[in-house]
Amino acid sequence: MYHRLKIGQYVSASAYHKLSAIYKMQYTRYNTYPRHSHSNNSKILISYIILNLVKVKIRYNRWFPKCIRLEGITLYPYIIISSSETVANKKKILKHEWIHIKQVRKEGFFKFYTKYLFEWTTNLIKYGRIGKAYRNISYEKEAYKNENKVMLPKNLN
Ligand SMILES: [Zn+2]
Repeated sequence: MYHRLKIGQYVSASAYHKLSAIYKMQYTRYNTYPRHSHSNNSKILISYIILNLVKVKIRYNRWFPKCIRLEGITLYPYIIISSSETVANKKKILKHEWIHIKQVRKEGFFKFYTKYLFEWTTNLIKYGRIGKAYRNISYEKEAYKNENKVMLPKNLN
């Protein structure tokens, strides 16, 4: 038995129910189950499936993201971490970036990055300081608040 999704994609019934369950779980975790119509929901489910099929890769670099004064950055599906960090710090950074991965998967690639840049710009006008503008982006607030609680997947490397 196959389920037909909106853009003519077919997935098996078991895969469909499994992904629907993961999708619901992900939303209820953040208590922000989206208020979308049914047709919209299947579009979101498709983009959610695609985003979740992409394997997240970790990369270490000497100069980037350090040149923009960050220890780590998520450029989905890549997590880029400064290679000069200590092992313990790398783990902490990875947990923080993993929350951004979850946010991209929840919100969608385009919405996440446009909202992130929009908030950063408006915060910069509001506070006038780069550090404070960055810390007050809603995605960063959520990431800093939860980075100690988040569980990293086992196959992440
Ligand atoms: Zn962050």
